[in-house]
Amino acid sequence: MPTPAILWLRRDLRRHDHPALGAATAAAGRAGVLPVFVIDPTLWEGCGPVRRRWLADTLRVTSALYDDKLAIRVGDPRDVLPALAAETGAGSVHVTRETTPFGARRDAEVAERLRSAGVDFTATGTPYAIGPGIVRTQGGTPFQVFTPFSRAWRDHGRPAPAQDPKPTLHDAGSHPHADELLSAATEFELAEPLPDAGEPGALARWSDFLERLDDYDTDRDRPDLDGTSRLSPYLKLGAIHPRTLLADLAGRQGPGAEKFETELAWREFYADVLHHHPRSAWHDLRDGLAVLAYDDPGEQVDAWRAGRTGFPIVDAGMRQLARTGWMAGRVRMITASFLTKDLHVWWPVGARHFLDHLIDGDLASNNHGWQWVAGTGTDAAPYFRVFNPITQGIRFDPDGAYVRRWVPELAHLPGRAAHEPWKHDDGYDHGYPEPIVDHAAERREALARYDAAKRSP
Ligand code: FAD
Repeated sequence: MPTPAILWLRRDLRRHDHPALGAATAAAGRAGVLPVFVIDPTLWEGCGPVRRRWLADTLRVTSALYDDKLAIRVGDPRDVLPALAAETGAGSVHVTRETTPFGARRDAEVAERLRSAGVDFTATGTPYAIGPGIVRTQGGTPFQVFTPFSRAWRDHGRPAPAQDPKPTLHDAGSHPHADELLSAATEFELAEPLPDAGEPGALARWSDFLERLDDYDTDRDRPDLDGTSRLSPYLKLGAIHPRTLLADLAGRQGPGAEKFETELAWREFYADVLHHHPRSAWHDLRDGLAVLAYDDPGEQVDAWRAGRTGFPIVDAGMRQLARTGWMAGRVRMITASFLTKDLHVWWPVGARHFLDHLIDGDLASNNHGWQWVAGTGTDAAPYFRVFNPITQGIRFDPDGAYVRRWVPELAHLPGRAAHEPWKHDDGYDHGYPEPIVDHAAERREALARYDAAKRSP
């Protein structure tokens, strides 16, 4: 006698190329699939208003993709899933495998409770093209460095997108509190409208970006241009899968396609690192710099958060983040370098701020991105890499357009002058603050601290 199957959606909020949906459909047959999303109050409260809004928008669109049959429940999944299975008579719960430290632990507990009630728990696929933990060195150990990882990741081969099944869908009914939470989340407004959410938004963005793929290699570091895919918020919630992207890239030649594939490999690498080193989420991956001297966060960090450091590209990035939930990739590196190397503050302080404000906030990519900049992560010898916020600004925002857009106090300065208000008589006429530190002196200080830490026994 077939029983319904629950499809518990998490970071896989789409309808196409969805192996777990395929597995649920096969298991349930005519008894049908019950798609459900569980709002876990602990995660919900911890993720900040921008990501709550993005998730709420994505859930609304996803519900429509599932013929308005997506049930939204509220509570601890360890309680919600067994209760839902008992309520509906479901014989199995299907998920996309979660590999973050929190998600993997939670799933193991949910699986145990379900199994003790006689309900199967099946994980199929992951949010990555190649699941974390699979790509290994010839000796079978995890990779520590990106370039050999990316080579092995490419050699592993591109997995084919999953077939789309035709499930019979049933609505298990939403929790009365769910609508209230989602409506409250959608009231949060930013200075710019959020992108179109969910799988249709992701596919539209992807097909638009493919038209510009050839320019990606040259434009990707320019915050003044729309040169990147901006797919990270969609990838974060699984509105589109990297498998789909890689399949579309197959057969496309050129530096743009190659570079884009490399960037996807970074996402996979950091997920792999987090899988093997769960502690690296909030602690230095490499022990070598454990004795590095840091300063406590104080007023200068408040100025960094508010975009009032007196360094135009840093302030433009931090204000763009606060006002829109987005910051261009190159500027993420510049602002992170400023916090860790000019203000000498330990990277988790900045990583927390980014996770609270970025629409694509992702533990693996964010926290390892921070560690890459800080010199505590996967990069071999990055301690001497201190980004110069002035030359970086001039190089990657050559006409000053990005700075003028986000820092109105500098809007009167033409061209690259926006990056160097101190060189112009009217540079500070509109209230822009003077630099809070002397970059050259702080660079020397950062290198001295790194040297001392490296020499320490
Ligand atoms: P594209 O240039 O179009 O790249 C395509 C995809 O490749 C991205 O969507 C992303 O999934 C992946 N990718 C690109 N660069 C990286 C990278 N360096 N590391 C990992 N994946 C990458 N990315 C997040 O998704 N969430 C974060 O919270 C996040 N925080 C970051 C914090 C810091 C300090 C740094 C230096 C980087 C961070 N990144 C993060 C990585 C990267 O900046 C963003 O993925 C990228 O800017 C998103 O823009 P895009 O989608 O237009 O990227």
